[in-house]
Amino acid sequence: MEDIEKNLNKIRSKIDVLKKDKEIKIVAVSKKKSWQEISKAYDNGINDFGENYLQESIYKIPKLNSLDITWHFIGHIQSNKCRDIAEKFDWVHTIDRVKVARLLDKFCPENKELRGLIQINIDNEESKSGIKLEEIENFLEDLSDLKKVKLCGLMIIPNPNVELIGLKETFKEVKKLLDKLQKKFIDLTEISMGMSRDFELAIQEGSTIVRLGESIFGARK
Ligand SMILES: *Cc1c(COP(=O)(O)O)cnc(C)c1O
Repeated sequence: MEDIEKNLNKIRSKIDVLKKDKEIKIVAVSKKKSWQEISKAYDNGINDFGENYLQESIYKIPKLNSLDITWHFIGHIQSNKCRDIAEKFDWVHTIDRVKVARLLDKFCPENKELRGLIQINIDNEESKSGIKLEEIENFLEDLSDLKKVKLCGLMIIPNPNVELIGLKETFKEVKKLLDKLQKKFIDLTEISMGMSRDFELAIQEGSTIVRLGESIFGARK
């Protein structure tokens, strides 16, 4: 059995050294992990959980209804899933199409707001999801009339084949982009980058949200 408490203590002490005066949000990525494991991380002070697959989360979220959990959707979004995502989640990290943003806005229930992050395709690989750098300003202008979805930052999923040392430049680029966009779009304050292998580097380079799976819960099957 994975020692979630010990893992979290280790992660927190690493983050404490790096974060300076900033608040860093830990999103525990619980895909393929049971609701009991989520509950255990919650008992150790984690309130934010990230899920990738809607079907899986639809099963787990009701089991944890009595807990004060903020749910983050971090998977690829199909437009026919937008209603469920808007109803069940509090944050969506992977907004990468105008259509998806509008559907989430439309289906978001009356009594809530949805925090949205824009997934950017920093490597500009044709096959990958994410908005290209040169398109992001137009994208934000197109979506300036959203009512329920509050776009509040950027998100990246780096290419897993890039070595850690190469990621440093990528992270720097994201931070530079945010600083530039912020002059025009003042609500953009968050950067969701950094996973188990690279969260320390990501925090050093300006990340405000880290998405940690295996370093908290142990290896996924
Ligand atoms: C699985 C996943 C993570 C967590 O990855 P780990 O390497 O387990 O920390 C973070 N972000 C996204 C988008 C993921 O799919």
